[in-house]
Amino acid sequence: ALTAGIVGLPNVGKSTLFNAITKAGAEAANYPFATIEPNVGMVEVPDERLTKITELIKPKKTVPTTFEFTDIAGIVKGASKGEGLGNKFLANIREVDAIVHVVRAFDDENVMRENNREDSFVDPLADIETINLELILADLESVNKRYARVEKVARTVKDKDAIAEFNVLSKIKPVLEEGKSARTVEFNEDEQKIVKQLFLLTTKPVLYVANVGEDEVSAPDDIEYVKQIREFAATENAEVVVISARAEEEIAELDDEDKAEFLEALGLEESGVDKLTKAAYHLLGLATYFTAGEKEVRAWTFKRGMKAPQLAGIIHSDFEKGFIRAVTMSYDDLMKYGSEKAVKEAGRLREEGKEYVGQDGDIMEFRFNV
Ligand code: GDP
Repeated sequence: ALTAGIVGLPNVGKSTLFNAITKAGAEAANYPFATIEPNVGMVEVPDERLTKITELIKPKKTVPTTFEFTDIAGIVKGASKGEGLGNKFLANIREVDAIVHVVRAFDDENVMRENNREDSFVDPLADIETINLELILADLESVNKRYARVEKVARTVKDKDAIAEFNVLSKIKPVLEEGKSARTVEFNEDEQKIVKQLFLLTTKPVLYVANVGEDEVSAPDDIEYVKQIREFAATENAEVVVISARAEEEIAELDDEDKAEFLEALGLEESGVDKLTKAAYHLLGLATYFTAGEKEVRAWTFKRGMKAPQLAGIIHSDFEKGFIRAVTMSYDDLMKYGSEKAVKEAGRLREEGKEYVGQDGDIMEFRFNV
């Protein structure tokens, strides 16, 4: 499964957020085969469509799909030239598919900025820069190594692939040298394939979490720190999610009724963990299809662009091997016509084959050989 890694400087509220995620966690009984590492928090992906389908079909059981956050350990500062824990920090980031970068945007005299640092004023931009710089320096090192090697081949052998890679490296190198992330460079489709093979850190999709005070979370537009974070994120085309990690820790412990009340008191429509989960899911290019029977209505995560047999394979590899076709209707059609039978009568029930590209909100039933 794809995962988003939570990073941030010390004392910005990462552990508080990760605790909230773990507490809000997916109901284990629904996912008996899931093995979760201690640094991974698995949450259910909120989806109103799943609720609506459940109301319509009234199955015995409803199972949401899940998403995993990874807590990134290690020391940030000096990581790019450091050993041990610093290296571990970078290695852990290399393994995740997206970065959730938590930034402190709350004032609290009792919470030092970083470990015992004297100047405890809050400075989101400096904090973002500190982390990004380590990632940029690590990338610059990989790019420089590669550059030296590929340049030679490109010049002497005139190898086509080497020239293409050299051109990509030549685009990235000066940007990193300027202290900017490689994600700010625009690549065409061919270049993107090459970029992927470089396994850089600063090309990973990112979203910024502004961790604000409990009493401010309902009106984030008024917070100067949040404005600063938004302005910076815009330069990377990145999204900003405003949460209060402290409030989230409390919310995660409540049952549904109390949770709704508490959210209302805070002036929020949904919890920050829910908001963050949706944003991270979207950031990774993930989408949801459903299976809907009387026994069980269930949501499944797929990567946009996947074809029908792959979608079937998410449920079971046998479904993919023996795939024949997928009987498919859209969520909107089910809501419009009210039942599968009515959808069929309206001529909107489709038989999709091997080349069908799954769409978000598809409701599918797979036919396969065993
Ligand atoms: P980490 O080092 O990034 O994991 O940070 P922690 O989650 O341990 O938080 C550091 C300190 O900041 C703890 O004392 C938290 O209780 C406090 N903290 C976290 N979020 C908030 C918040 O929204 N408001 C305030 N006032 N304190 C917070």
